[in-house]
Amino acid sequence: MKYCPNCKEEYEDEVKVCKECNIELFDCIEDNNKSKIYTKFRMAKKSLKVMAVLFAIGIILILFSGSIGESMGEKAIQSCGGCMDTSSYERIIDTNTSNFRIVGLVLSLVGGFGTLLSGYAVYKELN
Ligand SMILES: [Zn+2]
Repeated sequence: MKYCPNCKEEYEDEVKVCKECNIELFDCIEDNNKSKIYTKFRMAKKSLKVMAVLFAIGIILILFSGSIGESMGEKAIQSCGGCMDTSSYERIIDTNTSNFRIVGLVLSLVGGFGTLLSGYAVYKELN
């Protein structure tokens, strides 16, 4: 089965040109493949966005891990009414800072790798 891309009229396989519009007919099968490729392309673009956001969140976590850790240390001091000594206060900050840094590192690695992969997929579909 073939169809006209202009008026969407369907024709038998032997027909090459639309009787109404006088333009070349499309293959339905070919068109199906095209829409499949298009869906893949859209999915790749979607995952590219998600991965880029993950990457950005990871970078932000790494950059702000110090201040996040500090604010968590301050919260811990406030919650026990200033009972904490300096060394345990600093230990809380250090632990939280490195935790957030590790999470940020993992996110940015996964996001960065995913961005490259889906970027490559988008690039491949475009060419
Ligand atoms: Zn037509």
